[in-house]
Amino acid sequence: MALRIRHLNVHFGPTRAVDDAGLDVADGEVVALLGPSGCGKSTLLRSVAGLEPAATGEIRWDEEDLTRTPVHQRGIGLVFQDGQLFPHRDVAGNVRFGLRMHRIRPTEPRVDELLDLVGLKGYRRRRVTDLSGGEQQRVALARALAPKPRLLLLDEPLSALDRVLREQLALDLARLLRKAGTSALVVTHDHDEAFTLADRVALMREGRIVQTGTAEDVWRNPVDEPTATFLGCGLILDAHVRDHTVTFELGEIELPGTRDGVAKIGLRPHALLADPDGPISGEVSGRVHRRDHVRLLVKVGHREVDAVASIATAPEPGQTVRLRIDPDGLAVLGDHPGQRE
Ligand code: ATP
Repeated sequence: MALRIRHLNVHFGPTRAVDDAGLDVADGEVVALLGPSGCGKSTLLRSVAGLEPAATGEIRWDEEDLTRTPVHQRGIGLVFQDGQLFPHRDVAGNVRFGLRMHRIRPTEPRVDELLDLVGLKGYRRRRVTDLSGGEQQRVALARALAPKPRLLLLDEPLSALDRVLREQLALDLARLLRKAGTSALVVTHDHDEAFTLADRVALMREGRIVQTGTAEDVWRNPVDEPTATFLGCGLILDAHVRDHTVTFELGEIELPGTRDGVAKIGLRPHALLADPDGPISGEVSGRVHRRDHVRLLVKVGHREVDAVASIATAPEPGQTVRLRIDPDGLAVLGDHPGQRE
């Protein structure tokens, strides 16, 4: 039981918003569609929902071709960024509407069951306008789940909320989706959110799905340079791998799972850690305080590189700093013999 998208194209005049995209979502699986603004995520999602017609290509649920099926017959539930609740109905009224829209007669036990699922059991009679943003999104989720859709589509479900709340709600939503057991496709531009929510991540760029894999797969082995950059690698260097030792301009480090040959290696800021015993020497040219660490800009030879220091010991601009390489901050890019196996 699965959603299968093949060679999907959606065009707006000359804009190829979705360009030959292919993607699967298995039964009960949660897949995140991750990519920068404007890459076509929402258009792909809306096309699966039936809100945007496909120019060519196929959207199937197993053997059933959904490509031209009207929205309400696709068996799909939708949750948008702002919830789109009915402000004049109470919480239970909004959930009942989810059932009525699909010509299912709402029963009170079913409404209770759904509110219980999203952790809002005591909220039946509350006006939705009196709820917090996070609570409103949970009502939207209960309403979307009410008719037991085979697939749930969520378009940036948390991005209207502030950051601290978003992290907590991403965890709640991940748990909720597992409990509901419904297959889901979630659009987000935030990799932390994608990794928290999804079993698998599909990376999208310029209308195409460029890579799919687990969070660890895509984080450790981005398929190409733009993907590595999108996933936080500020610096990409040529490297050489021999016997699991990766050698590059700044030094060498052992990385299990790598294959011999030439490679490209991506460095995230915490690939270089301030350490008095580190083998690399540089001069601090910039310093920014972050929540639990200090980000440094360091001149090493002719390069300026990002590095991370602890708040207590971070050096000041102008001072010399020694750095060591932390393998957790490195990515080995795909399509090179040196990529991790
Ligand atoms: P964001 O994260 O900013 O919402 P996105 O990845 O979801 O971006 P889409 O909204 O799918 O991207 O847009 C993909 C491309 O299609 C963009 O170039 C956008 O301007 C264009 N586009 C989207 N909807 C329409 C429309 N109704 N008419 C014309 N162009 C559109």
